Parts: sequence; structure tokens; C-alpha cells
Amino acid sequence: MQYMDAALRKIMHEYDEERTAARARREETVEKVHRELPQIKEIEDEINRLGMENFGKIIKNPEKSREYNEEFEKKLAALNAKKAEILSKNGVPLDYNEVKYKCEKCLDTGYEDTKKCSCFIQKIINLRYDMSNMKEILHDFDEFSFDYYSDKYIESLDMTEKENIKIIFEKAKDFCVNDEAKSLFFYGGCGFGKTFLSSCIAKKMMDDGKIVIYTSASSLFSDYEDYKFGKKPSEEFVLKREMMKEAELLIIDDLGTEVISAFSVQLLNEILTERIALKKKIIISTNMNMKGISAKYSDRIASRIYEAFEILHFVGTDIRVQKLINKSE
Ligand SMILES: [Zn+2]
Repeated sequence: MQYMDAALRKIMHEYDEERTAARARREETVEKVHRELPQIKEIEDEINRLGMENFGKIIKNPEKSREYNEEFEKKLAALNAKKAEILSKNGVPLDYNEVKYKCEKCLDTGYEDTKKCSCFIQKIINLRYDMSNMKEILHDFDEFSFDYYSDKYIESLDMTEKENIKIIFEKAKDFCVNDEAKSLFFYGGCGFGKTFLSSCIAKKMMDDGKIVIYTSASSLFSDYEDYKFGKKPSEEFVLKREMMKEAELLIIDDLGTEVISAFSVQLLNEILTERIALKKKIIISTNMNMKGISAKYSDRIASRIYEAFEILHFVGTDIRVQKLINKSE
């Protein structure tokens, strides 16, 4: 988990900077208040002086400590009351000289005792979103609408569009929490919800602490060719491959739209072999059926997908068109 480790170090460094900034903000505020309200500085100096004096008296005559303390507390209360009066008259918060941390729970350390603070957990979730390449398109399951699917009977599935999508939806939800669930092969025309549902799965799994990596097939294969032919620094692709291995879920979107070469077939085969051996999940979405996969990639790849994946057929009315119609109405 090399990349996650580096990322965690970066988060800890951010906390360091936030604490430093919080202390600097406090210094500035205190300076400003002392400049504008010199009486406040005088009172604070007086409080410090009295404290030192009290301490000195107690050291000399410990038997009288109670008496000294009472006397000190009385003077302190009077000074604090005066200070509070001046501050509130001038609209300055009474706690102006305290360090204001972004997170009051962990004081910007990331930890409450030994437990990770909720702000730390949120940072890790954001980091996963960043790493996934899906940040801009993440959705929650409850945003998924069945309204775009009709009650039209589909003979090949022996059910209606709506019944079919409901089954797929339940499988998608189960997939997020069931370690034994097979990988998913989403196929069907454009705009039937494949990418949307993939993004719901991705978000749920990331929120549950898993690493998800998303790539479109075309960018995956073109990056691979650039790497093979030395067109781009090789570290970039090596890193991408490394992250794909680490991720608990890999999403390959729009398989079949890319220009195919012997290299892409080889890479796809390599990725499938590696993830199936590691029992790690994949979602492939495509508008090709298994016959198409066979023809475009190879029988071997098609048969691996057939064995290791649950094949789900998305049918429906084009959701994007439907949304436009609804908007214009
Ligand atoms: Zn916190």
C-alpha cells in the first residue's frame, strides 16, 4: 500500500500546516487586540504579575497558601470581569486569545486519543475519491431513478425493462457489501444507466473504506501504447498499473469503443488474470455482447469473462434523451 502510505503522510503534513496556521492566526489576533485595546494588555500583564507574586509568597510561607490563594482569586476575578467588560463593549470575543483550530475535536492533529478523528476519516475518503478518477461523477444509490425504465416487455429477458433494472439494481447493491460476489459485466446501449450505476457502486465502496480505480478503456489502452512506445514517461503508466493492482475495485468503462491492437488484447488479458487470481472485483461496462467481445478481443477473454463475471444486460429507453424531454416539458 505504498501510495496510500505516501498519501497518509501528506495528510499528516497538512495537519501540521493547519496547526501552525492556527497558531499564527492567534498571534495576529492577540497583537491586534493589544494594539487597539492597550487596557487589555495592561490587565493581562497585571494578572501575570499577580500570579507570579502569589507563587513567590506561597514558596516563602507555604502554611499560608490557602489565604494567599483566596486573596489572589478575588483580585483575579475582579480583573477578569473588567477585562470581559472592555472586550464585550468593543465586540471582541472573550476567548480571542485562544488558538482556534479547524477541528475542535482533535485540535487539528487528526486523532482523538488514539482514535482517528472524523475529520481525518473524511480526508481519507476525499483522497479515495481523488484517486478513483470519478470524483466529478459520483452518485448515491438513492439518486438512481427507475422512472426512466418502461413497463415494456422484453422477450429475451422474459420481463419488463423496469423489472430487469430493479434486479440489476439489487445485484449492484449486494456487490458492494458481498465479498463473494462475482465481478460485474454491464452491457447494453448508451444511456441506459451503466456508468451511473457503476458510480453508485464506486461511491458506496469508497465510503466503506475501499479503494476504487476508474478508467475508460480508451484511455487505459492508449496510455499503455504510449508506455510501450516510450511516448510518455514510463513512471506514469507504472503508477497507474500499480494503483489498479492495489484497488479493491477496478472499473473499466466503455470497453469496445477504443481502437484495438495486439497490445490492448494482451493488457486486458493480463488485468483479468491478475485480478481474478487475487479475487479482486472488476466492473466492465460495454455496449458489446459476449459475441462482440469474442470477435473483438479473443475467445479466451470472452470465456474468462463468462466464468468470472455476472453478465447483466441493461435495456431501456435512452435516459439522457428522456432527461432532456423531461427538462423541456
Ligand atoms: Zn478532527
